[in-house]
Amino acid sequence: MLASSKRLFSSPAPGVTLPDTPVVLNADDYASEPLSQGRTGFPKRGGQSLSYWLQQVRCDPLLDHRTTEQLPRQADTVVIGSGLSGTLIAKQHLETWPEKSVLVLEAREFCSGATGRNAGHCKPDQWRHFAKFEKAYGQEQAIKVMNNEATTWKALVSYVQENNVDCDLWVGDTYDVPLDDEVAKIGKECFERYKELGGRVDHIRVTQDPSEAAKISRIKNAKACYAWKASTLQPWKLTAHVMRDNISKGVNLQTKTLATKISPDSTGEYKWIVHTERGQIACNTVVHATNAYSAALESSLKGVITPKPHMCNKFVPPQAVCGSKALRNSYGVLLRDGGLFSINPRCTADGVVMFGGSNPGQKELDQWVEDNPEHCIDDSLASVEDVTKHVREFVESNFEGWNEAEVGPGEGFDYSWSGIIGLSADGVPFVGELPGKPGQWICAGHHGHGMARIFTAAPGLVKIMNGESWDATGLPEVYKMTPERLQCLRRASGEAPIVAVV
Ligand SMILES: Cc1cc2nc3c(=O)[nH]c(=O)nc-3n(C[C@H](O)[C@H](O)[C@H](O)COP(=O)(O)OP(=O)(O)OC[C@H]3O[C@@H](n4cnc5c(N)ncnc54)[C@H](O)[C@@H]3O)c2cc1C
Repeated sequence: MLASSKRLFSSPAPGVTLPDTPVVLNADDYASEPLSQGRTGFPKRGGQSLSYWLQQVRCDPLLDHRTTEQLPRQADTVVIGSGLSGTLIAKQHLETWPEKSVLVLEAREFCSGATGRNAGHCKPDQWRHFAKFEKAYGQEQAIKVMNNEATTWKALVSYVQENNVDCDLWVGDTYDVPLDDEVAKIGKECFERYKELGGRVDHIRVTQDPSEAAKISRIKNAKACYAWKASTLQPWKLTAHVMRDNISKGVNLQTKTLATKISPDSTGEYKWIVHTERGQIACNTVVHATNAYSAALESSLKGVITPKPHMCNKFVPPQAVCGSKALRNSYGVLLRDGGLFSINPRCTADGVVMFGGSNPGQKELDQWVEDNPEHCIDDSLASVEDVTKHVREFVESNFEGWNEAEVGPGEGFDYSWSGIIGLSADGVPFVGELPGKPGQWICAGHHGHGMARIFTAAPGLVKIMNGESWDATGLPEVYKMTPERLQCLRRASGEAPIVAVV
């Protein structure tokens, strides 16, 4: 189905310096290999391929919940999007202003965007992308990004544990495993540099000895192994828990309600009118939690946040590799050219293994989308063999016993689905007020890595909305939405057909 890929990099956004050498470890970059700029679209309605997470909750009434039969005509704040960002923003809004009304709009089923379709890995990057961020933003910001990911992971785990959230949370050792010598060499350099510059690495156990790495990780061709704590979880169930609590405290959720436009309120009574197919809502505050789809509603974000389909593969391990032989850790398997397998074996749940990330087949999928841009928001893709075949090859040649295992009915690679990643043109999310739109705020552009960002980015946004300083958010300054940043990226996307992504 998919044509062969070609490399599409061109010049970088002003102010953003690209690394001199191919960034072998930059899995997100690989994920974000530039695409035709300016393309965008509203969420696709109808025909979505159901993720494993969504398949598990088909009788949950939250899926098509509407708190009130009629769409409210006014609200203090309208949050657009019911993924993890919109849901946590609504939570923080309630805590900050319990007296204010919050309406959450969702175009489709509750949490059926990237959050409900991802690989379920909350893996704080603790060294791997340091070189990329250092090159682009300097050492201080790069260290802040790493520290923020650790803080975000801890915040997510604390919330789940303190609130007894039923979401299959697993906390344990995640392994980063380079699969060839070149990748291992660059990884080592990056790790050493991070350590040298004062990055926190005392919680990371490292071995550069391939046989030791293979023994620890159980990956036959491992060249090194970096181990630290991370989590996996059922992301829909976590988000649903938060939203149920929000609703019990007064939030109005309206699913299957697409926001089509935002215009100034001509009566002057309110600041903004949010237009939907079910009527209009007057409000003073709008929050864009629309991630990949942000530019469809806010055209100044075209070429700044770009949608891109990614696949997640589900693998039911055959009997021979189950039980005592089941995988007990999550993984980032680092491939040449920045490719990555992100592996979540659901160790505390059913042992079904999720394979996300950007494996070599992603390039073919990217090229196909490039040639068929109408598919840029297509989350109806399923079982894309060009992507699955690389996962199959990897497991067969790397996990003991997986190649020889007899695969019976109901076992093996039975399904994969697509979800839409919101690529940020400079690789980091946008948190803050939309330039030139007082009262409109954004938390989006999570760049395929939102589970390790949103638990601090969403509350951080509400702090900014409340007039608190950026410092109070604890977020890296490079996440801030500013007129200069937006202008810079827009100029770049206008000048060059393609914006390089750091
Ligand atoms: C296949 C895949 C695997 C991934 N794996 C991981 C992973 O393992 N770990 C990780 O950290 N990250 C992963 N990600 C990325 C992560 O899922 C996202 O960064 C994160 O979920 C973004 O959350 P969000 O709430 O900002 O956006 P979303 O969850 O996409 O929510 C946005 C919502 O807004 C709605 N919406 C948009 N426009 C409108 C409109 N105009 N009107 C009404 N509603 C609207 C959408 O329907 C959607 O539900 C993955 C992503 C994909 C696609």
